[in-house]
Amino acid sequence: MKFIGTRGTDEKKSFSEVILNPAAPNGGLYVPEKLPKIDERYLLKFFDDMNTKTYRHIARSILRKFKVDLDDDLIEKSLYTYLRNFDHEDVVPLVRLKNFYVAELWHGPTRAFKDMALQPFGVILSKLAQQRGENYLILAATSGDTGPATLKTFENRENIKVVCIYPHEGTSEVQKLQMITTDAKNEKVLGILGDFDDAQSALKNLLKDEEFKKTLQENDIKLSAANSVNFGRIIFQIVYHFWSYIRLLSDYEIEMGEKIDVVIPSGNFGNALGAYYAKKMGLPIDKIVIASNKNNVLYELITYGRYDLRDKRLIKTISPAMDILKSSNVERMIFDKFGEERTKELMSSLEKEGYFELTKEELEKIKEDFIADFATDGESEEIIRRYAKNEFYLLDPHTATAVKAYEYLKEKGKLGDNKVIVYSTAEWTKFAPSIYYALTGEDVNREIAELEERSAISDKDAIAYIEAHLKEKAPEMILELFNKEITNENIIPKEKIKEEIIEFIKN
Ligand SMILES: *Cc1c(COP(=O)(O)O)cnc(C)c1O
Repeated sequence: MKFIGTRGTDEKKSFSEVILNPAAPNGGLYVPEKLPKIDERYLLKFFDDMNTKTYRHIARSILRKFKVDLDDDLIEKSLYTYLRNFDHEDVVPLVRLKNFYVAELWHGPTRAFKDMALQPFGVILSKLAQQRGENYLILAATSGDTGPATLKTFENRENIKVVCIYPHEGTSEVQKLQMITTDAKNEKVLGILGDFDDAQSALKNLLKDEEFKKTLQENDIKLSAANSVNFGRIIFQIVYHFWSYIRLLSDYEIEMGEKIDVVIPSGNFGNALGAYYAKKMGLPIDKIVIASNKNNVLYELITYGRYDLRDKRLIKTISPAMDILKSSNVERMIFDKFGEERTKELMSSLEKEGYFELTKEELEKIKEDFIADFATDGESEEIIRRYAKNEFYLLDPHTATAVKAYEYLKEKGKLGDNKVIVYSTAEWTKFAPSIYYALTGEDVNREIAELEERSAISDKDAIAYIEAHLKEKAPEMILELFNKEITNENIIPKEKIKEEIIEFIKN
């Protein structure tokens, strides 16, 4: 399987090449030249002996379908992380609620869906670097979940160094502790005095900085990336869509070939793109429901066919992993539907004018696969409270946006009678204060203008409250964070980022 760029291609690349060097020519992204196809026979093969088939079997089979240029041994090693570092034997368990199924993508070590791809990805990147005798630096700006998952997967891995930059006061306490308690020698965590945008633009400037590039060269270090711009992440985000379908089959919840709808809390559109690719490969998915929070650029794109950043600024919400205005993976979907020339045109318009608009026909094509909705914080809190009370199921604030989208679209008659899977992207323990406020009802229907005020209750106390009042138990890896030694806390002004990183790579 070869990969081409969404904005033109110099030469086609292999899977391992696009993992190591994820940026395609002209600012584009790499996509598979052609998606592999599967049919019912393929699904039946798993269905027939699901008792002996595990998540890893399906993952291995999908990687083979893509004909990735990795040794079998390396593939096995990477997939072994699902066995060793996830705390559920299904890896992605499906929970049945009254009207739909919840697929829990957060049973990995950092309790959010980023582990699904980053766990195997870390093994692969490090091994490829070793095989080539090369050293790589991964720079990650994080608003909360990518940072911990990136640090976790590269912990003490050879030939890889990681620098993780987060806004000092912009993440949840649990997320911050997950980062600053890391003590791997190959990792550096920088908390900057600024917000996520500052962290991201500091990184962007750094990548253009001549002195920085020279230092990298002198120290024989190349740059890679672990965000969902890297196709190495996307491929693992295709797998669980297959898994969930096969699981429903083997539990006799659906019949072979029966179409289902999936609902996905979306930010950078990586998870949703995985569903789209799975559908294109032949998985019987009907509608992919995109759920946003108040930063609803994806909702506008899918509903009205326009991507308009001109009058928008980022709004802080209780679902921070979805607080995104420039959703990178939309480009891969646009390319798949409308081709290279149109992608270039639209992306250039977005970059230059902060705006693009699809034709009516183009919008119709998007609506064949997608439908969207968004939730305010008040609506998400109402959902969290109601499901805790009526279904005894705790939703995190991201997953709550998806449940709201499902309920709303269903009620409006915009979804048919297909069975529905809602993808749950984080465990409640990562956002305990928001859950606490949702449950106690203090803030329902209030827009969160004063998010800061909410830190009135600490994560630790919120977790304790929830454990005491509901039949929930936070996992050990979250609880132990509160007693762990802080070994990697470096709070710096953003002007000092370059200096800190240079010093780190020289050592
Ligand atoms: C990253 C993340 C998302 C958004 O996923 P995308 O693939 O970027 O759309 C949603 N929820 C949580 C909890 C996340 O960490």
